[in-house]
Amino acid sequence: MSFLEISDLTSGYGKATILRNLSLSVDRGESVGIVGRNGAGKSTLLLSIFGQTRVFGGEIRVAGTRIDRLPAYRAAHLGVSFSPQGRMILPNLTVQENLCMSLATGRKGDWTLEGVFDLFPVLRERARQPGMALSGGQLQMLAIGRALMANPEVLVLDEPTEGLAPVLVDVLTEALLKVRASGTGILVVEQHHALIRAVTDRFVVMAKGEIRGGGTSAAM
Ligand code: ATP
Ligand code: MG
Repeated sequence: MSFLEISDLTSGYGKATILRNLSLSVDRGESVGIVGRNGAGKSTLLLSIFGQTRVFGGEIRVAGTRIDRLPAYRAAHLGVSFSPQGRMILPNLTVQENLCMSLATGRKGDWTLEGVFDLFPVLRERARQPGMALSGGQLQMLAIGRALMANPEVLVLDEPTEGLAPVLVDVLTEALLKVRASGTGILVVEQHHALIRAVTDRFVVMAKGEIRGGGTSAAM
């Protein structure tokens, strides 16, 4: 049994079907990249894991438990946490308060506030400032740090480098390599193939709501 198992999933929004009979499994500690054109359904796949789409058929299991009708916080309890496309912060809370929201899952593990500050030192420097004072790249780090603080088995990221300067793409790549080395799996939608190559074991290609291929990331 894989840790995360998506089986024959058909899902979408309202009456619209976007994903068709899609299956994808991620083992504990495994890292998988998802690539494909704009509108291929990559975000819809991740949103489906977190109960934010309408599921028409199939199922999603985390460690054997069905989660396809449960929200993100429940998935985080089970060990799958999410940094969505477009960053979510509470602008009037401090950087530190924004990071600590994931502690509500009660999952204990390697990732603490100090660990996240070591990973992204700029967040330590700005810990007491309001979330709204962060730049785009810093917000991205905050979103990833918050997801890590739930101590997930699988960290799910949607376009973590979107809008980042090349130097920050390198910073993020290094950070995700450390996350992977800590034993946390990564499921990442990303346009930068260099990042997929660096931090994942294998990749899948999506088109028109289906997985159309894939392979070993090193051979990408
Ligand atoms: P991108 O690379 O641009 O982020 P994507 O592969 O993540 O693209 P999705 O966001 O999953 O693509 O979109 C897949 C399809 O679902 C698109 O046709 C899109 O218009 C549609 N879609 C996305 N969100 C919604 C929504 N909330 N309501 C209705 N349709 C939606
Ligand atoms: Mg998307």
